[in-house]
Amino acid sequence: MKVSLADLRTQYYELKEQIDAGIAEVIDSGLFCGGPRVARLEQEIADLCGAKHGIGVASGTDALILALEAYGIGQGDEVITTPFSFGATSEAIARVGARPVYVDIDPHTFNINVASIEAQITPRTKAILPVDLYGQMCDRNALQSLAKKYNLRLIVDSAQSIGAAQNGTPIAPNNDATTLSFYPTKNLGAYGDGGMILTSNDEAAEILRSLRGHGTHGHKYHYVRVGYCSRLDAIQAVVLENKLPLLNGWNELRRRYAHLYNALLTDVAQESDGALCLPCETGDNYHIYHQYTVRHTHRDALQAYLKQQEIATEIYYPAPLHLQPAYTHYGYQEGDFPISEKVSNEVLSLPIHPELTEEQIQYVAKHVVAFQKSHTPEPTYQR
Ligand SMILES: *Cc1c(COP(=O)(O)O)cnc(C)c1O
Repeated sequence: MKVSLADLRTQYYELKEQIDAGIAEVIDSGLFCGGPRVARLEQEIADLCGAKHGIGVASGTDALILALEAYGIGQGDEVITTPFSFGATSEAIARVGARPVYVDIDPHTFNINVASIEAQITPRTKAILPVDLYGQMCDRNALQSLAKKYNLRLIVDSAQSIGAAQNGTPIAPNNDATTLSFYPTKNLGAYGDGGMILTSNDEAAEILRSLRGHGTHGHKYHYVRVGYCSRLDAIQAVVLENKLPLLNGWNELRRRYAHLYNALLTDVAQESDGALCLPCETGDNYHIYHQYTVRHTHRDALQAYLKQQEIATEIYYPAPLHLQPAYTHYGYQEGDFPISEKVSNEVLSLPIHPELTEEQIQYVAKHVVAFQKSHTPEPTYQR
């Protein structure tokens, strides 16, 4: 049995008629960049995520860059962030001229350890940029009160968490900005690149709309700031508006599969720091499992074994950002963020998309169990 990490074609065939018709309509209308269809989608997604405004842009990376810039963050500023994320999180900070200041993660949720942030705040700190990694929200209450206490901006990278909630609250309320990505394999994926910034700050929303369209204001040839060309196009809006009503059901299915993995693997897993650790969904979270990521002390052997069974897996992410060549000039060294460094060697994401069947999840779990039984792991685990 083959088990893939994503199956975009099957999802397309579910919606082919509507999407094809919508795309034809856009081509016929000649309205490709922006327009009422994009505006309607922006409002629907803002409503879903609990923000007043949605500003569609060309990618999730641009969403981060524009959000930082809209709040005036740039040269000489420091932004506190996680070293354990996709590269775009640090890239956006560096791109606006600010400096990423890393804080290590919690080994169970993989999200920034909020308790360690305060010690890194300096007079130059302007913002906190945490990530909702794998689809589970980082601790909003703690982050929001910290941001308030030190008068910092809270910009959350929610590229992986559209539809998630914490204590019943969706991803966006009370953040200064929340950014989304519609990269094709995200839980809500376009057929190309796309992204969005969510905010309830009217002034920031106006700046963001100006920034994405060459820094214009009022008239399309009147430039009040140096902007970008970063729009969400109407063809992507067709894809996204047709998928949006299905997002909750897809997220529910991902959750069901995650809980099935948990049930099937719990006997061979250890609570903490064993050979195999299952992902931890903390009680107040509605985790949407963009990834189902386990930790294993023999990760590469497990991955190779699963590959032999035609089970695709992926390592998100094999090296923390502070050790990447692009960011070493900030002066961080191996050993600075031991948890991020350790989990980079242990994480493995198993297939979890909604186009899978329950039998496929059982097949994957069966082989993880078989691996556990055939490979006697070291009895004690060294930190
Ligand atoms: C996907 C992703 C991004 C970037 O999104 P793009 O649309 O590919 O630019 C940023 N941060 C995280 C955590 C992501 O997963």
